[in-house]
Amino acid sequence: MQPIYKRMLLKLSGEALAGQQKFGLDYDVVLNICRSIKKCADMGVEIGIVVGGGNFWRGRSSGKMDRTRADHMGMLATAINALALADALEQLGVPVRVQTAISMQQVAEPYIRNRAVRHLEKGRVVIFGCGTGNPFFSTDTAAALRAAEIDADIIMKATNVDGVYDADPNKNPDANKLDSLTFLEVLSKELQVMDSTAASLCKDNKIPILVFNLDNPDNIVSALLGENIGTIVKE
Ligand code: UDP
Repeated sequence: MQPIYKRMLLKLSGEALAGQQKFGLDYDVVLNICRSIKKCADMGVEIGIVVGGGNFWRGRSSGKMDRTRADHMGMLATAINALALADALEQLGVPVRVQTAISMQQVAEPYIRNRAVRHLEKGRVVIFGCGTGNPFFSTDTAAALRAAEIDADIIMKATNVDGVYDADPNKNPDANKLDSLTFLEVLSKELQVMDSTAASLCKDNKIPILVFNLDNPDNIVSALLGENIGTIVKE
């Protein structure tokens, strides 16, 4: 079977790397996710990854702290996760590069778009750390931005839900999972699929997003093979 996308941007939340403890890193969980990423790479899919930082720190939940400084801390948290993912991928034999939007040249390459594309073409997974490099943004927006820059066919947003429902499945047993919806619906109904900045960027640049559950990391592989996984948001 052939993958239906050639180049994908995978968005992993920080929480996805924390496992049961909900904080910090569970390296076995990281390795498990990376095993599925390796399967995608082995199919010849070019893979960029944007990782969040919520397992360590979120700027918007920092209380009294100055928001810009709190966001700087959040971006550093994403760099920790990027390095952990890179380590696990390398241990599995997958060539990988980390590029960060805030320079830290002793630990990672700076983000350079053309260089990132070159890495992808050579079959290296590129992990983008530090979000967009700017406060007041999220890593979902960073995913949309990097996907546009590297001309990705799709953003795969791994979450802890199966997809988008027409009602809250925890409160309403008759809630149905939607197979697809439009960015306009996401924006007008304020669906919590992604923040509005990210949704607008994807809408304007016609980048579809597949929202799916990472409880089974092989869902990434199934989705790439065109199986009916999650909910796709497109024009
Ligand atoms: N962040 C930021 N600019 C960005 C991306 C992220 O300032 O472009 C900061 C922000 O404080 C955010 C934190 O990094 O709360 C972690 O990112 P996010 O909350 O998106 O992580 P996730 O919820 O996906 O784990």
